[in-house]
Amino acid sequence: MTPEEFRKMGYQIIDWIADYRAKVDDYDVMSTIQPGDVRNKLPKSPPESRETFDSILSDLDDAIVPGITHWNHPSYFAYFPGNAVLSSILGDFLSSGIGGVGLNWQSMPALTEVEEVVTDWMRQMVGLSSEWDGVIQDTASTSSLIALLCAREYGSDYSQMNTGLQKSDSPLVVYSSIQSHSSVKKAALLAGFGLDHVRFIDTDENYALDVKKLESTIKADIENGLRPCAIIATTGTTSTTAIDPIADIATIAETYDMWLHVDAAMAGSAMILPECRWMWNGIEKADSIVINAHKWLGVVFDCSLYYTRKSEHLIRVMSTNPSYLQTAVDQETKSYRDWGIPLGRRFRSLKLWFLIREQGISGLQERIRRDMENAQWLFQQIEATPEWEVVAPVQLQTVCVRHIPDGVADDELDKHTLRWANVINSSGAAYLTPAILDGRWMVRISIGAENTTLDHVKALWSTMQDAVRSTDE
Ligand SMILES: *Cc1c(COP(=O)(O)O)cnc(C)c1O
Repeated sequence: MTPEEFRKMGYQIIDWIADYRAKVDDYDVMSTIQPGDVRNKLPKSPPESRETFDSILSDLDDAIVPGITHWNHPSYFAYFPGNAVLSSILGDFLSSGIGGVGLNWQSMPALTEVEEVVTDWMRQMVGLSSEWDGVIQDTASTSSLIALLCAREYGSDYSQMNTGLQKSDSPLVVYSSIQSHSSVKKAALLAGFGLDHVRFIDTDENYALDVKKLESTIKADIENGLRPCAIIATTGTTSTTAIDPIADIATIAETYDMWLHVDAAMAGSAMILPECRWMWNGIEKADSIVINAHKWLGVVFDCSLYYTRKSEHLIRVMSTNPSYLQTAVDQETKSYRDWGIPLGRRFRSLKLWFLIREQGISGLQERIRRDMENAQWLFQQIEATPEWEVVAPVQLQTVCVRHIPDGVADDELDKHTLRWANVINSSGAAYLTPAILDGRWMVRISIGAENTTLDHVKALWSTMQDAVRSTDE
């Protein structure tokens, strides 16, 4: 493809995306195709010779679009807001269009320096002090793995440079809450702690980590000859956006000389609102934080911000320095390859840079505030309606509900919950996520797609009431 062909077809693709976004609310939110439907429409083997661009585009419409669940639909209330604001997409295009790879500063000086600038902008936007340094990772899963690798080396006197954990007499232990994200468990396993040394602490009535139980578990482990190593606290858990008490947890981490990592993957975006920062009160005492800019904030996936107060330690754990990567300016510049796992980096900072500049802090704040107000509106409707129950505090933009008809309980209630959620999801009118809380199904309504207005939330509320009525019949 020549640059001239690219120009022509590129315009067509931009038009395609613009049309798609302009009419995204015409689609059913959740794709209802069957497994294999997309695969079966595509040839089993690759084309022997060149195909026309038109035939590729027509397959896009015929085979692929039916298999898309529309995350940018205004009635998307599933999982979490996975906003892909169009300005950030242009930044992503540029990253691909420039098409280089960051290996060290010299291989693409602007890549390093824009990342430094933009992660520092975000640091200021969420109200962190200048002690924190940022780096962009792909996902929160990777960020939390990096945190636990740093914790492991901190807790084992840098054991990776000799026996690793293989000869340790006092095994290291990781603590998190039963409501923490599955990536926490995965990170602990991959970092070599072993499932026997991962503790999932109970939560209080608001689904926040119970600090007393945390401390008694730590004490019991010490008595048994184990070495408490790391705590992963969550600001905004996945099921209910519960808020762990960071300040109290930080005190414990300090007392027992442990690493504190804060998973604010989802709720970190709300920290651009000064009125939300109480939620991570004590954050300055943490050692590392993850905030996914690719969720509610609006950067197109993937863009996970990892902040650390101990960047020298991070670099020590992550660095290798083969001769072919060494340059004369290494002392004066950052080498982000030493801030994470992969060597090569994409120019991810461009999409965040575009988003922040195009929306401004005030534009981003306005949207997050709107979503929180819409969640409160829905909360009030549900609370005021018989047979409906909000089952967890609504502190951010997620509303967790059950509809409990008179006399329906236990397994019958579970069936009813899954039934009405499925009625809505399969109708295409909206998309919600059922999840288990306290051993019973409930439905999570995660508000915050870029184009979701109060009217869409009002429409959802009547759809919900219709759905429970239809399951009676
Ligand atoms: C979304 C989420 C994750 C996982 O994020 P990825 O970037 O997909 O790895 C982890 N923790 C919390 C609290 C989340 O909301």
